[in-house]
Amino acid sequence: MSKVHYRNCNLCEAICGIEIKHENGEILSIAGDKNDPFSRGHICPKAVALKDIYLDANRLKFPVRRTKNGWRQISWEAAFDEVTAKIKEIQTCHGRNAVAIYQGNPSVHNLGTMLNNRELLKCLKTQNSFSATSVDQLPHHFAGWAMFGHPLLIPIPDIDRTDFFLILGANPLASNGSLMTAPDVANRLEAIKQRGGKVVLIDPRKTETARVASEHHFVKPSSDVYFLLAIMNRLFAENLINLGKLKDFTDDIEILREISKEFSPETVEDITGISASEIRRLGSEFGTAKSAVCYGRMGVSIQKFGSLCHWLINSINILTGNFDRAGGAMFTAPAFDVLAAAKGGNVFNRWQSRVRRLPEFIGELPVVALSEEILTEGEGQIKALITSCGNPVLSTPNGNQLDKALENLEFMVSIDIYINETTRHADIILPPATGLENSHYDVIFNAFAVRNTAKYSEPLFVKTDGAKYDWEIFQELVHRLSGETEHLKSEPPEVKLDLGLQFGKYKLSLAELSENPHGIDLGALQECLPNRLLTENKRINLAPEVLVKDLHRLKTGALTVSEDFPFALIGRRHLRDNNSWLHNSERLVKGKNRCTLLINALDAERLNLQNKQMVKVSSRVGTIEIPCEITENIGRGVVSIPHGYGHGRAGVKLDTAKKYAGVSLNDLTDERVLDELTGNAAFSNVRVRLEAR
Ligand code: SF4
Repeated sequence: MSKVHYRNCNLCEAICGIEIKHENGEILSIAGDKNDPFSRGHICPKAVALKDIYLDANRLKFPVRRTKNGWRQISWEAAFDEVTAKIKEIQTCHGRNAVAIYQGNPSVHNLGTMLNNRELLKCLKTQNSFSATSVDQLPHHFAGWAMFGHPLLIPIPDIDRTDFFLILGANPLASNGSLMTAPDVANRLEAIKQRGGKVVLIDPRKTETARVASEHHFVKPSSDVYFLLAIMNRLFAENLINLGKLKDFTDDIEILREISKEFSPETVEDITGISASEIRRLGSEFGTAKSAVCYGRMGVSIQKFGSLCHWLINSINILTGNFDRAGGAMFTAPAFDVLAAAKGGNVFNRWQSRVRRLPEFIGELPVVALSEEILTEGEGQIKALITSCGNPVLSTPNGNQLDKALENLEFMVSIDIYINETTRHADIILPPATGLENSHYDVIFNAFAVRNTAKYSEPLFVKTDGAKYDWEIFQELVHRLSGETEHLKSEPPEVKLDLGLQFGKYKLSLAELSENPHGIDLGALQECLPNRLLTENKRINLAPEVLVKDLHRLKTGALTVSEDFPFALIGRRHLRDNNSWLHNSERLVKGKNRCTLLINALDAERLNLQNKQMVKVSSRVGTIEIPCEITENIGRGVVSIPHGYGHGRAGVKLDTAKKYAGVSLNDLTDERVLDELTGNAAFSNVRVRLEAR
């Protein structure tokens, strides 16, 4: 007889409720859970990948060791012995920083990893800690820290109540919301229009989201910062500044007035490609809307001026009083509050990378520095690397260089379920139990959700005999590396989770969540300022010195392009993709080739390109060949390639992904192009040239 299991899908940030019908260990169907108070039955096509990953013949279930004759299964005991011995030996010989760690994006979707990875970092005491944060979202955290006192104080657009949603460089219809957890986002955006509101999209590409937006404006890549300054200019010029209650605890409005003075719509229209009259209109409409919220994501984060953009986005919301109020940008109040014991203080530039002196932020160095820190000889050189569920060869800039760098390591261990483009370099792979074998509570994305809800998912399946959970792997490494094996015992993440829930705002418990398998609705976002601020003086800092000083990079010519590389390359994501990690699901990757170069029809005509013709694309760091897809839906002078592809490398054990290999965008992106303030990679507006093949 079939049974039903309810849980959250943890494949992306949207945390949709799903209903899994199963019988005798076999999954019969995966559907949306209509009773989930947050996602209301919505799921996307990726949800089925939970089954595909669980059944994937390529998924590792036991530790493996790389040998001259290929991969060999070894016992957990032997694996832990070797890993800890090598890490200790390398740190003893070459110092703490000789061992680096890279944590990939899936880490953050995993309860066991999120509640245990800090202990491993503490134990390693290395300054060479890297993660996917500096791939795509560091500017959000930086602006949150500089303005509100903590990197996790990221304001979330209250899209369920807003009347005017201004989106820059985000494609929620493909992502289902990012740093804005918003399952069923298409209906949520539709509802804005149904209640008489407006959705305006600013993006170099007419994306899937443009189809549901009230209007779309092409913007030149990396010029959003000028657009935002011009909007601010209009707000001041038209006396649309009204902080409301925020004025009692907000500083330095006049500095923003001065800064924005020189950025009139007329001065930025050529730079941005958006006419002065349209910028004026948008500024007025935003400033006079009953409620409005400005939100930016990937497109504005992964560019040279990412941190400036997020500062200005927050500032525009604050200046118009659309902050900490219904329909504006708000902070969440999650049941398990990652900020419960948080303190403010400096988390920036306490140390720098060895080679390029790039700044640390929240204990991490920018990942653009990883390959040079491995390749450059000298004291402090990285000799060993631990990766946790990441594939930086495909997901970080100049992937080819990192690919080569990994060959130079003395030792590498990966906590991962696959032998992929990155982990193929590992000496040992420690594979954790996966998705459906794990319990889940999203400790991170509930903190970025457009509504407060809480849900705990029991494991659906018992893990394979002898397999280990992520938290068991992390705890075992910590016990052995710290030498404290005697008095420490394994502790499942549920212990910390239950405590956090009980001491949280709603005084929930794990038992209560277990009795509510569809989840518990905790209501719309709530006003919480100034209490939630973590700045020293409990005030909003509208003009942090570190950001104001960075404005000097906007001098004329900041976006000047070399004639050798006349096109601006941007990335993109499809609803059926999630970075590189779902490409081993045949039903998600099959069908029309999605790994294509989008090019504007007029540009294609000028280059005499035909649809699907192979094009050689070259940047400073590399060259790839890819079929082109001619379209009206991308700005002139801009081309786009999706990220997460490029599975054709030797030694990768991903049968399906190799069949649909595609090419890697990051064999073109450049580790030297970054947001110079924070070191976040600048994937957007990589300069390339095209040649027909
Ligand atoms: S949108 Fe994300 S969370 Fe929802 S079903 Fe798809 S992959 Fe899962």
